[in-house]
Amino acid sequence: MILDILKNPDPQLRAVAAEVSLEEIKKLQPLLSDLKETMIASDGVGIAAPQVGVGKRIIIVDMQGQPTAFINPMIIGRSLRKVNGEEGCLSVPGIYGIVKRHKAVRMHALNEEGQPVELNLKDLPAIIFQHEIDHLDGVLFIDRVIRYTGTSKL
Ligand code: ZN
Repeated sequence: MILDILKNPDPQLRAVAAEVSLEEIKKLQPLLSDLKETMIASDGVGIAAPQVGVGKRIIIVDMQGQPTAFINPMIIGRSLRKVNGEEGCLSVPGIYGIVKRHKAVRMHALNEEGQPVELNLKDLPAIIFQHEIDHLDGVLFIDRVIRYTGTSKL
């Protein structure tokens, strides 16, 4: 089912999302598939549960064409090096801008079976994870933007 994506300035986009318990993960499977479907239908490379009004720490990221769920994702390592990249957001339609992010990050999460996963990410995937995890803390890319571009899309 394709879900409605909340748009800025909806206050639900500014709330801090709650941790998901292991027992909850099984019940959340329909939400995970709806989130994937919604991300694909919106032509996005990532989506976070708060963007559809669900205040839980869940993100979906396009991993080489495969929409993949990460539960309770946490950045556990960051490169000193930062890069400027152009970002957009399904919740901030039509607005694009340059954001400075860590070039590489290490991320810990649970997969949709509730098993722990750790990934080393760099460049675009690292940026997508930082952007999506920000959503779980009520942060939008426009809070971090250095310069608006208003042209192409991530
Ligand atoms: Zn976003």
